[in-house]
Amino acid sequence: MTHSFADLALIEPLQRAIRAENYRTPTPIQAQAIPHLLAGRDLLGIAQTGTGKTAAFALPILQRLGAVRMNPPRNSTRALILTPTRELAVQIAESFQSYGRHMALRTAVIFGGVPQRPQVQTLARGVDILVATPGRLLDLMQQGYLRLSELSIFVLDEADRMLDMGFIHDVKRVVATLPKTRQTLFFSATMPAPIAELAGGILSDPVRVTVTPAATTVERIDQRVYFLEKDNKPALLIQLLKDPALLRTLVFSRTKHGADRITRLLDKAGIVARAIHGNKSQTQRQRALADFRDGRARVLVATDIAARGIDIDGISHVVNFDLPEVPETYVHRIGRTARAGADGIALAFCDGSERPLLREIEKVTRRGLAVVADHPFHAAASAAAHSAGAKPGRPSRPHRGAHKRPEAGNGHSQGQSQGQKRPNGNGRRRRHSGAKPTQAALA
Ligand code: AMP
Repeated sequence: MTHSFADLALIEPLQRAIRAENYRTPTPIQAQAIPHLLAGRDLLGIAQTGTGKTAAFALPILQRLGAVRMNPPRNSTRALILTPTRELAVQIAESFQSYGRHMALRTAVIFGGVPQRPQVQTLARGVDILVATPGRLLDLMQQGYLRLSELSIFVLDEADRMLDMGFIHDVKRVVATLPKTRQTLFFSATMPAPIAELAGGILSDPVRVTVTPAATTVERIDQRVYFLEKDNKPALLIQLLKDPALLRTLVFSRTKHGADRITRLLDKAGIVARAIHGNKSQTQRQRALADFRDGRARVLVATDIAARGIDIDGISHVVNFDLPEVPETYVHRIGRTARAGADGIALAFCDGSERPLLREIEKVTRRGLAVVADHPFHAAASAAAHSAGAKPGRPSRPHRGAHKRPEAGNGHSQGQSQGQKRPNGNGRRRRHSGAKPTQAALA
C-alpha cells in the first residue's frame, strides 16, 4: 500500500502542486490507480465523487501529456474528460488547472446553457485537456469546431449518472469518433448492466479498482432519521437550523418547486438559503454555489439532478427533506458530507408515506438509521411501525435527547453536541481556493 505521494513516481511539478493542495497521503483510489495509469493502462474505477478520483486520473494524465512535448493541433484535444454536469465539468477543469499549475498545458471546459462563441474560439487554438458535458460537445463536433482524431486519452466520468440522465446515446456517439489506439478510463459508482456493457466495449484489458462507498464515506457518516407528519417538515428544518452546529447544510428536495418553497420558508425565518435546480439559469446556479461555498448562504437547497457533481468541502450536514425514490440516491446525497477524510452528519425526514423508502435505504446501507425521537414533531406511531418491521443488519435504536448523539450511530466518540462535526484533523482546506469558476477556457 502506498503511504505517500513520493512513492507514486509523479514528476516534481505535480508533487509541488499536491503539496500546495495540502494533500498528505494518497486516497485508496489514488494509490491503486495512479501507478497503472502512469504506465498507460486502461482503468475501470468503481468509485464515486468524494473518493479523490479526480486527482487519481488528473495527475497521471497531466504527467503523460507533459512527457510528450507538442502543441495541440487546432480544433482538437489530446485528452477528453466527459462528465454529466456543468458543475462537475467546471470542478474537474479547476482540478486540472490546479494540479497542472507548474506545467504548460492548456485546459478548457465546455458545457451547454452558455454562449458557444468563447468555447469555439478556445477550441480553435487546440487544447491539451478538454472537460466537457456530452450535449454541447456533440453540438460543437457536429458544427466542425472539434475533432477527436488526435486524442490519446479518454475519461468517462460518472458513467451511471450519464445513464440516469439520458446521456448514454450521446456518449456512445462521442466514443464512436475516438481513435482506436488510446488510453481509456471509465468511472462509475455503480455497475448496472448497460454500464457494464458499455465499459466492456470501450476498455481494453483494464485494471479494475473498486472503492465502495460502504467501505469509505458512508461508514463514517452519522445517519439519523426523524419521523414526522409531512406538514411539519419545514418547521422541523427551521428548528434544527437553530443549532449553529449546522454550519453548512445541504438540503435535498425531490422537486424543483419543493426546493424553491423550502428556500422561501427559510428566508422568511431569517436563514440565508439558496436553491439550485434545473429551472435556474447557469449564472444563478453558479452564484448559488459560490454563495454557499463562500459561506454567504448557510443552506443550499438542491434537487438530485442539480446536486450531481456538487463538490464543496466542509458540508457539515446533509438533510434529506424528502426521501429519494431510489436508495442509491440517498448514498450519493449523504456522500456530499464526509469528504475525503472528514466525518459528516446526514439527517432524514420520514413521513408516513416514506417508510417503504426508508426501508429500502436501510437495506442498501445495511444499517438502521438512528431514530431521533426527542423533537416536537415526533410521530411516535410511525416510528414504532417502522421499528416493528425493521430487520436491517444493524437495528435502529430510538434515542432520547436531541443534544446527544444517537447511540445507533457509527461508533463515533460520545459527548459532542447535536450536530457537532468532529474537527477535520487533516487540515485540509476547501477545494482549490485559488481557482475561479470559468465559463469557457481555463488556460
Ligand atoms: P473527488 O472524489 O475527486 O471529487 O475529491 C473529493 C475531495 O477530496 C476534493 O475536495 C479533493 O480536493 C480532495 N482530495 C483529493 N485527493 C486528496 C488527498 N490525497 N488528500 C486529501 N484530500 C484530497
